[in-house]
Amino acid sequence: MPGKNVSEDFPALRVTVWNEFIHERTAAQPKEIYPRGIHAVIAEALRRRLGATVEVCTATLDEPEHGLTAGVLARTDVLAWWGHAAHERVSDAVVDRVHRRVLEGMGLLALHSAHASKIFRRLMGTSCMLRWREAAEKERVWIVDPSHPIAGGLDGEFFEVPHTEMYGEYFDIPRPDEIVFISWYEGGEVFRSGCTFRRGKGKIFYFSPGHETFPIYHDDRVQRVLANAARWAAPAGATYFGEGRRIEPPLSPIAAKHTVDESLHREG
Ligand code: ZN
Repeated sequence: MPGKNVSEDFPALRVTVWNEFIHERTAAQPKEIYPRGIHAVIAEALRRRLGATVEVCTATLDEPEHGLTAGVLARTDVLAWWGHAAHERVSDAVVDRVHRRVLEGMGLLALHSAHASKIFRRLMGTSCMLRWREAAEKERVWIVDPSHPIAGGLDGEFFEVPHTEMYGEYFDIPRPDEIVFISWYEGGEVFRSGCTFRRGKGKIFYFSPGHETFPIYHDDRVQRVLANAARWAAPAGATYFGEGRRIEPPLSPIAAKHTVDESLHREG
């Protein structure tokens, strides 16, 4: 089913917010801050901020195929991912499917502890590990790429999250395409807290603020970043052909006489 028509050429952006949805059911603080789950708060924020230009649905770990069936992913332009306690419970078949969709052009927003998710590590190819401390300290999120669309509408040169979990360098990721935010923490560490990557035709944004025991996804500036990022990560450009394609015959004559050894093009 195609997205509802904002206009014929620009259908609504279809966003799926995925959450493992464990802490909010099992631990007192997350339950109190996010009684219907982190995914519900993010989904509602995207709907409120992007209005008719977006269609948002949610999916969680315990649903069949984690709610990420081939059909759901085919209808997803941008997937937001929050996971922490159960990265290893995400099936490899689903990770394969998400990976393929990113290469085809689906955007991915990897949120907070999704740095250690199977899908993010697969896309990065590194450990994606970092240093961390949960001390409810202040985080100052510096905007280091002020013309980047993900920073659009933010006032000033930084914003502050009053109580956060510190994520610090060294963050073992490949060199990002762009660094939009760098965070400073009260305890002295710094962190590349907003980074973009491209894999295949897909755009990926990693954003670190979002620990489950603080109301960070209720924060106006954080919601703004997520809404901006969803739009930025939307599939763009021409139809993608990801498979190797053998062109035969050539479009114009080629002078050389050459005999193809077909055995070299067969697998095995
Ligand atoms: Zn955390």
